[in-house]
Amino acid sequence: MLVDLLIRNAHILTQDPSRPVAESLLIHDGKILAVDPDAGAAALAARTIDAAGATIVPGFNDVHAHTVWFGLGLMEAGLGSVGSLDEVYDVIGKAAASLGPKEWVIASGFSPLLLDGGQPDRDLLDAAAGGRPVWIKHSSGHACTLNGVALALIEAAGADIHAGVDGGAVVMGPDGRPTGLLEENAMRLVQDLLLPYPLEAIERALDLATTHYLSEGITSVTDAGIAGGWIGHSPQEFAAYQNAKDKGLLSVRMQPMIVLDALRPLQGHASDAVTSGLDTGIRTGLGDDWLRLGPVKIFSDGSLLGSTAYVTEEYIGCTHNHGYLQMDAEKLRDAALRAYSSGWAVAMHAIGDHAIDHAIDILTEAQETFGLNALPNRIEHGGVVRPDQLDRIAEAGIILVPQPHFITEFGDGMARLLGPKRTLWSYPGKSLLNKGVILPGSSDRPVSNGRPLDVMQSFVERLTPSGEIYGPAERITAAEALAAYTTGSAAATGTQDIKGRLSPGYLADLVFLNQDPTTVESSAIGATRVLATMVGGDIRYGADKFPPRLRTEELEPALPLQPAPTTKDSA
Ligand SMILES: [Zn+2]
Repeated sequence: MLVDLLIRNAHILTQDPSRPVAESLLIHDGKILAVDPDAGAAALAARTIDAAGATIVPGFNDVHAHTVWFGLGLMEAGLGSVGSLDEVYDVIGKAAASLGPKEWVIASGFSPLLLDGGQPDRDLLDAAAGGRPVWIKHSSGHACTLNGVALALIEAAGADIHAGVDGGAVVMGPDGRPTGLLEENAMRLVQDLLLPYPLEAIERALDLATTHYLSEGITSVTDAGIAGGWIGHSPQEFAAYQNAKDKGLLSVRMQPMIVLDALRPLQGHASDAVTSGLDTGIRTGLGDDWLRLGPVKIFSDGSLLGSTAYVTEEYIGCTHNHGYLQMDAEKLRDAALRAYSSGWAVAMHAIGDHAIDHAIDILTEAQETFGLNALPNRIEHGGVVRPDQLDRIAEAGIILVPQPHFITEFGDGMARLLGPKRTLWSYPGKSLLNKGVILPGSSDRPVSNGRPLDVMQSFVERLTPSGEIYGPAERITAAEALAAYTTGSAAATGTQDIKGRLSPGYLADLVFLNQDPTTVESSAIGATRVLATMVGGDIRYGADKFPPRLRTEELEPALPLQPAPTTKDSA
């Protein structure tokens, strides 16, 4: 029997405790067949790759990112690097110039934080866009900015922008006019006008996003909410995922979560409870190693920087503001239990510690009442996690999914709002490991930088933009950060038996790096370069650097390449 591939001459960090470091891998049929095979087994390889001493680690797995949102952003005018409002108008003007007179100018990646809180002026946007409607999506995902033309279109469509919005705000200026800033649920006003996106656009977004992932060594991603709510792009969003997979546009393995709003009451036999799910009863776990339905995504509160995350003690400098739950606590419990009882694992967005109290209560009750579902239950973010909550999370076996790169980007602002005591409890790392809680790697991209090696550096350093250490006791080692992005992420997504390690039977998803990120200075982790990325035994990025050579070529260099096999059909 011939075996597909031998990778040799590598420094392999397997993440398998029984053999942590290896030099060669035998790969067959998309999986690892052997680690450091003996000469006899190695000789069975049809092809070989000389890794030339490169470090190889399991493929990175981002368990909380927004893939469609990120991909669409790559198709829109980019405001991620602007340094002034004038630059914003400039980008909008340039984007408008290529559009028809009535087409929407859509831009993304805008962050007021980068401009000291500066917000674009609706009238100046009108001028910049030459009378076209403008929709600027903020990178936080919790707000957007419209120009006057866009606001007029919303009113023309029959919406009353002066009426209050539950769980959101149309921000008014001193002149009594809307400034164009829409917060939280008020974003629906513009989404109602422009969504759903065509499936083809979502497929293109998936193509762009997952191709980008490969260049950063990412081989698996959880899309943290599709098909509903303010975060979905089409009620048919999962169909776009399936189409993209069928067309070969999905470059990495995906586990999309379905937003709670997409689920509806399901009837069954009289002896079955009325539950909620997708029609036909499809639930968490359906799919294959490339595309699998993840948990249901439920938003319990808002964001830290928007001071809408639900905290027990009020925000510093915002007297009486504790944030709020996005829905009534009893409704939240009902909705979560109903989905859970029909087989949906739950991923609950909870940032403030008061929201996390609710999340732990609900997930614990669900598990005790209905047992475990196909995938683990999760709490997304964990902006403030009190020590007593860590104990409960550990006891219930719930996964907490923190985003350490928030510290690198927004740490000073978060520390100001939380004050010193709660900053110590914010986006924990080490204390999760100490309690035996699984720590996965994640970014929330495009809210924050999603390049895993940068996020790993944030895990280790926890430095705010001004250079303060944010919760020093929560720093972890580079080796622990690598484990988070591989084995931790695999465990958080219920794939610990096939992902996260390079050992026999595991998927051949791996990354070639130019250095060992666990042995360099912590400040140099992010500078580690991804040389190549393999998914399922195929090098999908950087193949030119590690061309597989026919084994026979090495033994007998004169032997020509074998001709492609022909079949009756193709002859
Ligand atoms: Zn998110």
